[in-house]
Amino acid sequence: MPLGQYHRKRKFDRTPEPKGKAAKRAGKLEFVIQRHQASHLHYDFRLELDGVLKSWAVPKGPPKTSAEKRLAMMVEDHPYEYRKFHGTIPEGNYGAGTVEIWDSGTYEPLEGEGEAALRQGLKNGDLKFILHGKKLKGAYGLVHMKSVKQKNAWLLIKKKKSIK
Ligand code: MN
Repeated sequence: MPLGQYHRKRKFDRTPEPKGKAAKRAGKLEFVIQRHQASHLHYDFRLELDGVLKSWAVPKGPPKTSAEKRLAMMVEDHPYEYRKFHGTIPEGNYGAGTVEIWDSGTYEPLEGEGEAALRQGLKNGDLKFILHGKKLKGAYGLVHMKSVKQKNAWLLIKKKKSIK
């Protein structure tokens, strides 16, 4: 039940967010970055993989240069439909505040092909990919910080050059 945690955190009669389910689909993989003005402003970085959106909360937003490394806290998988979600999550609900779509587009692995390469990267804690967004274009990476106590801490980095 890949979306169990997502569903447990929310009451769908009280939030406009989609209940959603894992999607079966083909075609180019999608990503979205949502600007989420909750109790603390952050950017939710989501990559489609295996029918759900793998998700990280990035307090400072995506890096602008390869010199910046941005903390990205891995959070629960979100349903595929969530990539289109924007609006207001009412007071009293998980993540209460406003969500707007900051960027979206397709993405692909930097090395290897398809979802298998991404799945392996995720497992290794070293995910490399190319974003084809409206704002973000080029090679990025998510690297799991294995040395820190918080098990869900990753770094979002911009790579100097894309190979593909
Ligand atoms: Mn959020």
